[in-house]
Amino acid sequence: MAAWRVRSNHLRLIMRLCDADMLHLHLPCMETLEEQMPEKELTPPLWIADLVTSTRSSIGVGSGWRINVSMIDPPPGDPLLGGECDMTPEYLDAELRFYHGIKDDAEGRRIVIHEVGHVLLGEIEWIVSCILGRVNKAERKILRQLYDDVVERTVQRLTRAISP
Ligand SMILES: [Zn+2]
Repeated sequence: MAAWRVRSNHLRLIMRLCDADMLHLHLPCMETLEEQMPEKELTPPLWIADLVTSTRSSIGVGSGWRINVSMIDPPPGDPLLGGECDMTPEYLDAELRFYHGIKDDAEGRRIVIHEVGHVLLGEIEWIVSCILGRVNKAERKILRQLYDDVVERTVQRLTRAISP
């Protein structure tokens, strides 16, 4: 059974930038880095876990959603991004991944709130993607970009409204 999956705009951007050749170029670098670096913690620090829980409660991402939170290394060459949201809305499953190095400060907290905000829009995202699947390829690309831009701005507004 093929689960339909959606990722936040951040990750889509990364995927667009990384064509197959670039990925091949990056892989040896990643392996080298992994060999040199000590094993890193996958479990999120308590402040992230607590903030995900309180943000869910604030914005109404109910207990029906199963949200797994973990820590990962930032994508190669893109240290500015702080997190990713990968969802399977028809099963109410979301994976939030935050990059090692995220700090418990105003910016770090905005990153966490932002990614939880994507989950709030997960079911809308699912419906829009189903509709876009019925549109011809050329129009789909334009409409997808427009929709993704609006989603990012909506999530930003939400984040600013509830950030401490
Ligand atoms: Zn985003």
